[in-house]
Amino acid sequence: MFGKTLRDDPSEAELDSHRLMLKSGFISQIGSGVYSYLPLGWKSLRKIEQIIREELDAIDGQELRMPALQPSDLWEKSGRFQVFGDTLFNFNDRRGNTMVMAPTHEEVLTSMVKANVFSYRDLPLLLYQIQTKFRDEERPRGGLLRVREFDMKDAYSFHVDEQGLDKTYNEMIGAYKRIYERCGLEVIMVEADSGAIGGKASHEFMALSDVGEDTVIMCESCDYAANEEKAAFDKSIENMFANEFVEEIHTPNVKTIEALGEFLNINSSQTLKSVMYDSDGELVLACLRGDLEINETKLKNFLKSNELLVASDDSLSRHSIVAGYVSPVGLHGIKIVVDDSLVETGGFVAGANKPDYHIKNVVFNRDFNSSNIVDIAKANDGYKCTCGGELETRRGIEVGHVFKLGSKYSEVFEASFLDEEGKRGTIQMGCYGIGVGRLLAAVIEQNNDDFGMVLPVSISPFKVWLTALNIDDEQINKTSFEVYEKLRSLKIEVLFDDRDESAGVKFKDADLVGVPYRVVISTRNLKEGVVEIKERSNPDAVKIPVGKIQQFFENEICD
Ligand SMILES: [Zn+2]
Repeated sequence: MFGKTLRDDPSEAELDSHRLMLKSGFISQIGSGVYSYLPLGWKSLRKIEQIIREELDAIDGQELRMPALQPSDLWEKSGRFQVFGDTLFNFNDRRGNTMVMAPTHEEVLTSMVKANVFSYRDLPLLLYQIQTKFRDEERPRGGLLRVREFDMKDAYSFHVDEQGLDKTYNEMIGAYKRIYERCGLEVIMVEADSGAIGGKASHEFMALSDVGEDTVIMCESCDYAANEEKAAFDKSIENMFANEFVEEIHTPNVKTIEALGEFLNINSSQTLKSVMYDSDGELVLACLRGDLEINETKLKNFLKSNELLVASDDSLSRHSIVAGYVSPVGLHGIKIVVDDSLVETGGFVAGANKPDYHIKNVVFNRDFNSSNIVDIAKANDGYKCTCGGELETRRGIEVGHVFKLGSKYSEVFEASFLDEEGKRGTIQMGCYGIGVGRLLAAVIEQNNDDFGMVLPVSISPFKVWLTALNIDDEQINKTSFEVYEKLRSLKIEVLFDDRDESAGVKFKDADLVGVPYRVVISTRNLKEGVVEIKERSNPDAVKIPVGKIQQFFENEICD
């Protein structure tokens, strides 16, 4: 077998899944965020792919295959050449044309649907592929959790109306739940931000894990769960007062919310926080209650900006704005975004837009104004859910994402159809992704112990690890090959460890790779006419007469 198990922990691996996949010879790193799958890892990956394929075919998905290499025109047309920015691998070919190594396939497929779909009779369609994607991630990390080349199942659906989209969206959620269950992965579904893909609604599937990159906000009382990037919460607080008059107060060198609270001996919820941003070169002021933090994903989505940065002190002074004392009161010529925590309440202490001064009793709609009232606040541990319960934060690995895109791409690529009355309609679209390698990594994060991986039967590279101790012994050799051929004839995938190694080394490797069943053929057992069978997830071995092996596995493995 190609690929060797390692005795020592690889120093570059911090996560269990990364460490165990390197150590067991599942993967081999070639460059930053670029891995080979060795035979063991590849077998597991192919099994996950097959489970995905079966579940998508069951909801009438049709598999196809699109190219990774694409002309950049398609990406210019959708505007995503800019949206993806540095994440998009691209280069010039020998003719000087810019080519893209695709991170996703909405552009190609929608343009093909335009060329192939004419009538309502051609719809609905659910198309998918399992194919290699490329993303030039800023920080590849964690083995297969964040890589630059990866296998993804991406599916796309096309419909005459939103009801059709809703139906397929729900069927897809059902298929995803079955896929994760069959792979032995526990997930929760959460409300999600649509990010660079865009669209109307989306959900993510999260494998809860302390090493996850995403933060999930969950309610302890109801079933609300959302990605932090999207999560909403109840912002109401009591005891806010609104005085009739604003009043200027001298606050020398008080430039932060914390310092302001201390200086005036008030709670930060009585202050108004103002942060100036640079959104694609335009200054934008974001305001919210002082005890809350800005969620930059929410703000970025509202502004539809490609690049959102906190404005530098330099650019503030160029616009004669005083850092540390910025506020929406009396600010002109700059777009103001107001979090809904500031509406219908008041009496805030805000900056005075001049050095060393703040103003008291500031009320929205009286002392400052804006038509951009949105939720831009970050949910956090202990905040209140809209049901009244308490919110808590957990870490999660995103193992799937579903989007209702609506007509975002079909409009750009003019994908339309003629309805029963011969009227032209715009196609409604959904898209659905699962990162296959990341799913494998998440399963390993959830299923391991001190000795190695504990793989579910469904995705383990082999079902049985057959270990012959003292293979040179004629009787051992003969029986081992008989058992090997018997298992093969039963279509039970078996890895035959016929190495000339000690029992200790062989058992250690079997535990490390985490194959569900270990069968041991040894001199002592053969004297009793038995073989020893041990489940990886069970500390106790059982002894079975050699002739009963078929019966044992027929009862145990029924998939
Ligand atoms: Zn709740």
